[in-house]
Amino acid sequence: MYRYFGVLVTRGIGGMLAPGGSAETLPAAASLLRHRCYSQSVDPEDDPNFFTMVEGFFDRGAALVEDKLVEDLKTRESPEMRKKRVRGILKIIKPCNHVLSLSFPIKRDSGEWEVVEAYRAQHSQHRTPCKGGIRYSPDVSVDEVKALASLMTYKCAVVDVPFGGAKAGVKINPKNYSDVELEKITRRFTIELAKKGFIGPGIDVPAPDMSTGEREMSWIADTFATTMGHYDINAHACVTGKPISQGGIHGRISATGRGVFHGIENFINEAAYMSKLGMSPGFQDKTFVIQGFGNVGLHTMRYLHRFGAKCVGVGEIDGSIWNPKGIDPKELEDYKLANGTIVGFPNSTAFEGSILEADCDILIPAAGEKQLTKSNAQKIKAKIIAEGANGPTTPEADRIFVERNVLVIPDMYLNAGGVTVSYFEWLKNLNHVSYGRLTFKYERDSNYHLLMSVQESLERKFGKHGGAIPVVPTSEFQARIAGASEKDIVHSGLAFTMERSARQIMRTANKHNLGLDLRTAAYVNAIEKVFKVYSEAGVIFT
Ligand code: NAD
Repeated sequence: MYRYFGVLVTRGIGGMLAPGGSAETLPAAASLLRHRCYSQSVDPEDDPNFFTMVEGFFDRGAALVEDKLVEDLKTRESPEMRKKRVRGILKIIKPCNHVLSLSFPIKRDSGEWEVVEAYRAQHSQHRTPCKGGIRYSPDVSVDEVKALASLMTYKCAVVDVPFGGAKAGVKINPKNYSDVELEKITRRFTIELAKKGFIGPGIDVPAPDMSTGEREMSWIADTFATTMGHYDINAHACVTGKPISQGGIHGRISATGRGVFHGIENFINEAAYMSKLGMSPGFQDKTFVIQGFGNVGLHTMRYLHRFGAKCVGVGEIDGSIWNPKGIDPKELEDYKLANGTIVGFPNSTAFEGSILEADCDILIPAAGEKQLTKSNAQKIKAKIIAEGANGPTTPEADRIFVERNVLVIPDMYLNAGGVTVSYFEWLKNLNHVSYGRLTFKYERDSNYHLLMSVQESLERKFGKHGGAIPVVPTSEFQARIAGASEKDIVHSGLAFTMERSARQIMRTANKHNLGLDLRTAAYVNAIEKVFKVYSEAGVIFT
């Protein structure tokens, strides 16, 4: 007999486990075992616990900003009590508030039954809903999901997206399942999330991550809207990254890669930063290498290529390719679609060794976490590391990069384009209207009226003796005459967000004399913003 045995662990402000909950026992045991095994051969500094790793980065930022938070606090308490309040709030921010651990059965096409493990972590509800992707990967663990959820809180804060952080992982290798099986898993997972209050337009809104995309998001929206959410007019806002027909938004698929491009652009065009690296500003003479040719890797490559940088190498799980003359993103995309791999791509040679250590100006890890470690940090040749992936750099490697004067543009800022455009999609869903729909005609008419008014004024002043004075719009104005399309709004909103946050990070780095340590600067910004919400809301300590 098979039965469902999902277990919920909630961790409130007081750090209490909900009755009957000890869902972390199994993964914790597995992790302990893994670490015991590793302790014989792997340096723990090279394979830190991912959640501890994020907490360590948080602590570094918090230590820097704590005194200022105490100083700025507007309470009538004594300095000692203010200090305690600040420390208390920082303690509240750091851990994951809720972790849901699930096991549920599915019947496979073969008739066999299988139990699938899955997790969703909600790191913070300082703003709601919580937001964060769902990944399908055999490496998923509760620790990974918690780490990614906490990163999401800081990421949202860095780019001023008003959400708390969350993340989900389903522990499967999607390549081993048929489409029908994947649909069953996704729909069942959605129901489990809904039953436990871990999905809903105002509670928790997932999005795509590794090995999930529009198709999975569509199944999730449909499952929620036709079951637990059937009474909710906003049901389709329960998830983002949907296809347009299901309430998705133009530009979401490429948003993370586009954001990575803008993020690099904001620093590479900054002469002060480039001179610290001994490089000239701009993309024109720059080469880059990408690890992971998935959603983030492909779209990052497309935009960098379009703006003049040259991709010389791409690394995938089954092999890497190299061409010092440049690799065309469209040709590589087509090749991968046709062959299921990048290996053997014409006009390239196989790259032996680690693609991360290849000769290039910009390295873009866009695959998994903990790729840049103490063991390879000294061997990295790139002067700019642009973190497309979440958590690709361990704290030890990060320290080495700062020492070596390598510019690391951190994940929590750089790959925030996805969640930024997800926020736009969520707003679109709540508004029940696409961007521009109400104003297209009015704007186009207004613009023509403006042109006519200019023409009439000119004719009044100069007369029509030589014939009518035509006022011809430039091609740029003509292209904008009907107002901004949804895509235009998404693209400009994203570019604005990435630029504004880059300026904030630069200001903080200068203020605290952090040099090239942009990660700490980004954490400082995130901590200050999250702290402000908690402190001004008046956290109740029971
Ligand atoms: P994806 O599944 O579309 O692509 C990941 C690619 O990396 C796959 O092609 C996979 O084969 C490859 N890969 C895996 N391990 C590898 C290895 N060791 N070496 C080389 N290649 C490897 O996933 P994605 O959505 O592009 O996500 C990639 C990273 O970006 C993840 O860390 C994810 O959390 C992060 N991210 C994604 C989004 C998004 O919107 N999709 C947003 C923010 C951050």
